[in-house]
Amino acid sequence: MPLPRPAALDMKAPLPVARPGADRASVPTPKAAVADAEQAHCTALIAANIATFEHTASVSGISGEALCGDEAPVRMTAVKLADGGSVELRPVVVARCEIALQFARWVRDDLAPATTPHDGALQRLEIAASYSCRPRNHLAGARLSEHGLANAIDVRAVVLSRGGRVAINDLVRPAMLFGEMRRSACARFTTVLGPGADAAHADHLHVDLARRRNGYRICQWDPANEPMP
Ligand SMILES: [Zn+2]
Repeated sequence: MPLPRPAALDMKAPLPVARPGADRASVPTPKAAVADAEQAHCTALIAANIATFEHTASVSGISGEALCGDEAPVRMTAVKLADGGSVELRPVVVARCEIALQFARWVRDDLAPATTPHDGALQRLEIAASYSCRPRNHLAGARLSEHGLANAIDVRAVVLSRGGRVAINDLVRPAMLFGEMRRSACARFTTVLGPGADAAHADHLHVDLARRRNGYRICQWDPANEPMP
């Protein structure tokens, strides 16, 4: 009788059970985990192919006693639209990959489709601020702004091919676009502050991806509280 071939014996051996992380000598430090997560966002931003951007040198600084900066921000100059067009960001946005990706999705999937034939195409977003090493609302002694972590973007105005420039606080504005802008911003970002929130946000829309305990979100942009024409 021939002996069973080794391969046949091996087939009966129990398969090793994959247990992710179980055989690691050490768990990642929180900093490494954060870096891994951010790298995943950068990879996703590249794969999505929905923005024109380049990686830039790390940014850093000190605001009061707080450290600003990000190790691998991007400079994003435009968002690519599904129809082949693009929306220019002026001046360029300097931000972490996670919010750059979310912002590009917002412009492409929510804002651009919300324009009417009367508005024409969304051509440009005027950016009031992105990375900026400073305290909140420029108040000395206040906590570090999410802008200091390259985790926030301020929009001052939209520019439409037919509707022209419409500032965030303009009294006459495309209702459908601005309604969708508010709804979708509050769905995508964890902080939304605009006119109606406070004096510091009377002339621009601030969005960021701050993480808070219990997933608490802030959605304060109340066009209804603004004087209507
Ligand atoms: Zn802001």
